[in-house]
Amino acid sequence: MEPFLSRTYDLAVVGAGILGLGHALAAARRRLRVVVVERDAQANGASVRNFGFVTVTGQERGTTWRRALRTRDVWAEVAGPAGIAVEQRGLRVVVRRPEALAVLEAYAASEMGESCRLLNAAEAAEGLAGLPAAQLAGGLASPHELRVESRSAVPRLAAWLAEAWGVDFLQPALVRAVAPPRLETTAGPLEAGAVVVCPGDEFLSLYPERIAGYGLSRCLLQMLRLRPREAGFRLPCPVMSDLGLVRYAGYTALPEAAALRARLEREQPRHLAEGVHLIAVAGADGTLVAGDSHRYAATPAPFASAEVEALILDELQRATGLAEPEVLERWTGTYAWAPDRAALIDRPEAAVRLVVVTGGTGASTGFALGEEVVAELFDGAASAEASSPEPAE
Ligand SMILES: Cc1cc2nc3c(=O)[nH]c(=O)nc-3n(C[C@H](O)[C@H](O)[C@H](O)COP(=O)(O)OP(=O)(O)OC[C@H]3O[C@@H](n4cnc5c(N)ncnc54)[C@H](O)[C@@H]3O)c2cc1C
Repeated sequence: MEPFLSRTYDLAVVGAGILGLGHALAAARRRLRVVVVERDAQANGASVRNFGFVTVTGQERGTTWRRALRTRDVWAEVAGPAGIAVEQRGLRVVVRRPEALAVLEAYAASEMGESCRLLNAAEAAEGLAGLPAAQLAGGLASPHELRVESRSAVPRLAAWLAEAWGVDFLQPALVRAVAPPRLETTAGPLEAGAVVVCPGDEFLSLYPERIAGYGLSRCLLQMLRLRPREAGFRLPCPVMSDLGLVRYAGYTALPEAAALRARLEREQPRHLAEGVHLIAVAGADGTLVAGDSHRYAATPAPFASAEVEALILDELQRATGLAEPEVLERWTGTYAWAPDRAALIDRPEAAVRLVVVTGGTGASTGFALGEEVVAELFDGAASAEASSPEPAE
């Protein structure tokens, strides 16, 4: 067999997070020779710390929403062959305020709400932990979503790319420099005709000056794994609540969101100040992953706050009826963040793309981005609506 580092690849991917794996998958499906280089022994960033919630409903209208639909389809295609369990499907938004219901009604009437269904209070409360329907205004059921357990799904996807598609993985190895056809890594040089850099929120190791031009920052989120006290209870589907309707761009762009925000500012100011909203998802063992919160800084303090945890648990109880669950795990995670874009595809050289998801939606959009960027590199196809302004000088 050829020695690993002397092989020549069609594509080298920097980063084995979900975005890097999405590009590797898109290229492998075209029968290209692919190597993925990852500085850690296994992916350890946002991609394994998230909810594994592939979210369509609520994503920003247009490109992001379409990328989410496509990414959801790819997850559905690869999950079985890769041995990844789809833990849950769909989404239920459970709301307590008439202003929130008005947002859901407007959403359902838009083209994005076409397959979604408005719920009355009794339907919204169904299967939740004894939540009285009288406390609810109603809800929305979306069929689009699916949920995987990222901490096992991401390594499984990588293993499947290696086993079934012949993708090589070089890790742990930091890529120090990219100049196709050559890459310099801490494990030695590599040769590849094209390179995609998916560094997540590592802004300094490659193309730091280009990344700086986009004014990226980081967002830190707090997460919990919980065991419900109610024996045998399993959350019937992923749940979101009123607070999510003032966070997700697909809802916030609706005029109806303004009245909801005004009311939440009066009634839940600490939740808003900490960027707390609710996503609650369940695994086959009945444990829940619940979060999250949002703190923005160049280097956010990594310490999980007890107050933020209490705010998340408070919203969980209000939206699902689950009281005082056992906390099994606590963790924080960060992702790259920009105020004005959901993703960037930068073109530092003809055969190099730098791809960063900047809106916290990488599990929901990464496969579609991978397909677009690989098509652009290998077919010369202009990436649909993917062009980004050059970074400011
Ligand atoms: C707590 C939390 C919850 C979230 N929930 C969701 C969710 O439910 N749904 C959703 O769609 N999105 C969610 N997100 C966002 C999503 O996780 C991210 O958008 C996505 O994981 C980004 O993927 P990535 O591959 O770009 O980054 P990462 O996962 O950070 O991977 C980047 C990789 O690149 C490697 N790397 C960087 N530089 C180099 C180099 N020079 N050489 C070698 N390797 C390098 C790093 O080691 C890292 O492994 C969440 C994020 C967080 C933090």
